[in-house]
Amino acid sequence: MDKPQFDALRRPQPGAPPQSTGGADDKTVIQDVDKVLQDGVEAGATDIHFEPLQEILNVRMRVKGSMVQVRDFPEKVRTNVLNRLKVQSGMDITKNRIPQTGFLRKEFGDRKIELYVHVMPSLYGESVVVKLQYKQSATMRISEMGMSAALLTAYRKALGKSSGLYLITGPPGSGKRTTVYGSIMEVIRPDMLAMSFDPIVKYEVPGMIQGKPDERAEYSFAEGIQALMKQEPDVAYIGDITNDADARATIQGAFAKRLVFARMTANDTLNAIQNLLDMGVAPFLLAASLAAVLNQRLIRRLCVNCREPYPVTEDLQKEIGLRLPADGRFYRAKGCGACGGTGYAGSVAIFELYLPSEELNKMIVAKESAQALRQRAQREGLTSLKVDGALKALSGFCSLEDVMNSL
Ligand SMILES: [Zn+2]
Repeated sequence: MDKPQFDALRRPQPGAPPQSTGGADDKTVIQDVDKVLQDGVEAGATDIHFEPLQEILNVRMRVKGSMVQVRDFPEKVRTNVLNRLKVQSGMDITKNRIPQTGFLRKEFGDRKIELYVHVMPSLYGESVVVKLQYKQSATMRISEMGMSAALLTAYRKALGKSSGLYLITGPPGSGKRTTVYGSIMEVIRPDMLAMSFDPIVKYEVPGMIQGKPDERAEYSFAEGIQALMKQEPDVAYIGDITNDADARATIQGAFAKRLVFARMTANDTLNAIQNLLDMGVAPFLLAASLAAVLNQRLIRRLCVNCREPYPVTEDLQKEIGLRLPADGRFYRAKGCGACGGTGYAGSVAIFELYLPSEELNKMIVAKESAQALRQRAQREGLTSLKVDGALKALSGFCSLEDVMNSL
């Protein structure tokens, strides 16, 4: 994307005519605040900050990680601006000495945006951040996620089951949600009832009923999962398993003969299974329900214009503990005009796929260690994250260092 270029992003020049904040009437303020939000959406900002300074209310937005000056409001309309944001997001405008959180939905052209508003009292008044959550139609496909041919074939086969639990795991920011939606797109059919429950609805899936917890409503995430399962969906997606109650509600849903996709933070596939057992999921229920566990990482993709090859040495193989082709090459980042000098362009995902077998299920029921399970799974063909990453590094997609650092 090019640098955002429109009036609102330009800093006011010295001697420039005053901005249109002269009229402190409500209508002008409403228009001005709406314009700031609109500009934020057009610039692809992730958040917009209304910062109370000594004499002005300054507005900046974060675009691609950097704060960009937008405009400022004079002292006399400060309260009107803040009230506009607070009223729209359902906050109490009679309170200005306590933190508040609000939410609103807005349409900008054909784009539906969710705005999460947070207020924090500060030295010169309330500081407000508006976080923008862009919804997109889910168009991703698992065939476009960089899975190796063998892993993609195996995962597709696993997705062909009529019921079971599919766990998509990895650390935060590893692209789990994208994989979940890609997987759902693979199995969803018009004759199915599909429902989801996720704190953030990032993608809209046609035909899927997408619920989310309400911070102000007094019911837990686990209760939300149970309520969803009572609707008897054929396909269910559970946003994030973080505690015992979530884990049990999810696994019971999968046990009741439906397709359940769930997201969870875990270091690898066996660690994910261990986490569920540690959360008190009965081993026999897990063994009876589990259809597949994916674990993934997002790695910086090397720029193909400037990446530099270097040979795979004996020492290097020892260091990473893998046997690799003797004539193999890894690549390192360099930097060129095409990649803005960074050496990287985009990202690539690495995956580990655990598929249960009768023997592995018996081992889960017998409460054998994650280590023993891993050894058995590898004998049955599990390709570890490290191996998948090393193969992608040998293909020049990413550096070996980035793969090793991600594990
Ligand atoms: Zn380059």
